Amino acid sequence: MRIEAIDLFYVALPVITRTADGTQDSLVVRVRTDNGLEGWGECDASPLISMAAYVMPMSHSNIINISEALIGETLNSPEDLVHLRKKAADYGLDIQQLDHAISGADIAMWDVLGKYLDEPVWKLIGHSSSHKKLPYASVLFGNDPDETHAIATSIVERNFQAAKFGWGPMGRGSLADDIALVQAARDGLGPSTKLMVDAGVIWGDNVDAAYERAVKFADLGVTWLEEPLKTEEVNAYKKLGERIKANNINIGIAGGEGADFYRSADDMMTNGGLDYVQIDVGRIGGITEAKRVADRAKALGIQYVNHTFKSHLSIAASIHVFAGYKSFDIIEYPAGNSPLILDLTAPSGIFRDSNGFVQASDAPGLGVDVNLETIRKFQRSVHIEIDGQILFKSSQP
Ligand SMILES: [Mg+2]
Repeated sequence: MRIEAIDLFYVALPVITRTADGTQDSLVVRVRTDNGLEGWGECDASPLISMAAYVMPMSHSNIINISEALIGETLNSPEDLVHLRKKAADYGLDIQQLDHAISGADIAMWDVLGKYLDEPVWKLIGHSSSHKKLPYASVLFGNDPDETHAIATSIVERNFQAAKFGWGPMGRGSLADDIALVQAARDGLGPSTKLMVDAGVIWGDNVDAAYERAVKFADLGVTWLEEPLKTEEVNAYKKLGERIKANNINIGIAGGEGADFYRSADDMMTNGGLDYVQIDVGRIGGITEAKRVADRAKALGIQYVNHTFKSHLSIAASIHVFAGYKSFDIIEYPAGNSPLILDLTAPSGIFRDSNGFVQASDAPGLGVDVNLETIRKFQRSVHIEIDGQILFKSSQP
């Protein structure tokens, strides 16, 4: 089959707030083929900047838009897809946000290829089985310990067996303030629910500040401390990890969501000494690149975890990446209130079974459908014009 069109949909909630909540807007990408099939993907990036990467005029031979690289091309096999992914990367060699933007098309191409070949994506990318994962409710800290406690209680009421609290006031007050937040989360969850803490890169390159918290959080049974430091502070990550291990502190260090290309993730694993590498399939360049990281993590003995703070379309794309690795047994699962989380694919989605686990679908492609009504409801109208020539105009899904 041939790629006939690439459609871009910028969806957003009516009001966007300054919280670290990626479920407020999205760029959804649809790939349509000449045999009437379509596949869907989603980018975790600034929607408009990513849109530009699909439609902007050529600057020179290494700045050519993604659509030009893909439309009209043949897509019949995983080999074709990897070739097309590389072609688009070559065309956009000097586009800064290329990997973020191409993630949507890469995911959509895997989805449509799966439908064409009548296979689930996990099989096409080389897995021989699809294992269950424990979803952890991924939420932001409340504004204070009381709010955090209430959020934790609601997570238990929704029968989650694991939860991660992040961002918000973490790291913005004193050490005692940070401990109080995590204590509130632990008290609300009870002793048996798995708890992770996401510091949202708040300590920059300050290993001492991160270590101090790691010791205290370990006492509260925190499984991992996520992004205590900035992604590029690879040496600081290494020092932090070494100090934690030398002192037998029982907590893992997680990071990697800021890695927006394969080599960055590899650097964090190889030189940063991570215990958990967290990859966003909508940032690193799609399923193709995320799978490379998962394979590398397996070889290094590091646990791969998805980073996902988008819709069930992105959760589906994420779970296929590491479906076949049984030891990569936990998955980030956005659990906030945004209608873009669930409604983008409703009534389909990646749902918990009676024991609370989730699994990549055996259905062709990603195994979820996009709800066009939701796109219509939240779509923002975009019109890009240069010298009177229309480069892009939003269309109805
Ligand atoms: Mg995070």
